[in-house]
Amino acid sequence: MQSGPRRRFRLRYLLLLAVAAGAFVFLGRHAWREWRWRYIVIHHTASDAGNLEYYRRLHKEERGWPDIAYHFVVNNGASNTVPGQIEESNLWKERSRGYSTRNTYVNTVGIAVVMVGNLERHAPTTLQYQSLVSLLVTLAREYDIPPERIIGHRELQQTKCPGQHLDMAKLREDVARELAR
Ligand SMILES: [Zn+2]
Repeated sequence: MQSGPRRRFRLRYLLLLAVAAGAFVFLGRHAWREWRWRYIVIHHTASDAGNLEYYRRLHKEERGWPDIAYHFVVNNGASNTVPGQIEESNLWKERSRGYSTRNTYVNTVGIAVVMVGNLERHAPTTLQYQSLVSLLVTLAREYDIPPERIIGHRELQQTKCPGQHLDMAKLREDVARELAR
């Protein structure tokens, strides 16, 4: 026969275990959401117009996605933005996966950054480019992502994105130089 106090002790023990397991799952999930980032994928919008709100509306209405496909938008001065101004999407605020490539794994562990502009036709302005480099340096430091994991969309899939005027090798070098300072 089990005595009363011992059974009560077991119940308390089980309750404690359940609370600990819950906390572990909660914190683990939070840690995963915050620390899962392994790549940064660079895109261009292939159009010189628009800002975050413009592309959010476009992606929601035309593609049926819940939000813009990207985590960060680096503006070019269109739609009342300041050239180089960075906008953070709700995807990033919620640490949700993006929709920027056809690869779900990359969308899940990759931070998607888009340059507004058609960089297949022309280079980004110095201000916009410098702003991109400083954003990448910040993200690379924060999430411990080495420059070789900063990749252009075209290095992953059959596309011209982010355009021939965005030299990915030079971009990685510029980020690496800043990181080494
Ligand atoms: Zn792209």
